[in-house]
Amino acid sequence: MVIHGLNKTTLLDFPGHLACTVFTGYCNLRCPFCQNGELVLCPESQPAIPEEEFFDFLDKRKKRLEGVAITGGEPTVSPDLVDFIKKIKDLGFLVKLDSNGLRPDILKYLIDNSLVDYFAMDIKSSKEKYPVACGLNQLNLSAIEESVKILMNSPVEYEFRTTVSRELHTEKEFREIAEWIKGCSNYYLQSYRPSDAILANMMDDDFRNSFPASFTSYKPEELKVFCELLNSLGVNAHLRGIA
Ligand code: SF4
Repeated sequence: MVIHGLNKTTLLDFPGHLACTVFTGYCNLRCPFCQNGELVLCPESQPAIPEEEFFDFLDKRKKRLEGVAITGGEPTVSPDLVDFIKKIKDLGFLVKLDSNGLRPDILKYLIDNSLVDYFAMDIKSSKEKYPVACGLNQLNLSAIEESVKILMNSPVEYEFRTTVSRELHTEKEFREIAEWIKGCSNYYLQSYRPSDAILANMMDDDFRNSFPASFTSYKPEELKVFCELLNSLGVNAHLRGIA
C-alpha cells in the first residue's frame, strides 16, 4: 500500500475510538469541492511513507491506539487495500474505512470477511445531482445504490455522510436523499469549509465550465433546519462539526 499521509492520533476520525489516520492516493471520482485534490490527481507528487515504517509505528502504539482509519483519495482504488487491512487486523487493531461507494464488491468482501469495523460512505447528493456532485458526465449510480444497500443490510457499524454546500444541496435534494436512505443507522451532515484549494481549481477550463467551480456553505441554523427535516422524514440525521 502506498501511504501518502499519516495522522498519528485522532479522536475525530474513528467514532468512539482513539485512532491514527492513513491517507491513500487516487480516486475514481472528481468531486469539484474535494479538498484533497493533490492526493486525488497527483499523489505521486506527495511524500510516501513506506509500509514497513507504518507497521513499525503501529506495532509500537499497540497499547495506546485502538484503531486505524483509512481515508483518501479513495482507498478502494488501491489494489492492495485488502492485504493492507488484513495486516492491520492481524496486529489487533480496529479498522474504519472511508469510501465513496463506487466499489460495492470490495465493501461486500470486507464485510463478509469481518475486515472492517466501521464504514463511512459519502452520499454526494440526490441521485439526480450525483454526477454533477462527483464531477463526472457519466456515473454508474447502480454501484453507489448497491453499496448503500450492502451497508444498510450489513451487521457492521456504518454511517452515511454528506458535505453540504449551497451549490449542490437544497431542501429538494435532502427530501430525495431521505427517501433513498431512510432507516439507515446514522447520517451526518458536515458543512463545506470554504477553501481555494479545491479540486475544481486544479482542473482545466472545460471542467470548470461543466461543473460548479466555487462553493459556499450554509449557516449553522440553516443546516439545523435540513437536519430536522431529515429526521422528520425517517432519517437518523446529525450535524457534525457544528455547535
Ligand atoms: S471528495 Fe470526491 S474526489 Fe475527493 S477523495 Fe472523496 S470521492 Fe474522491
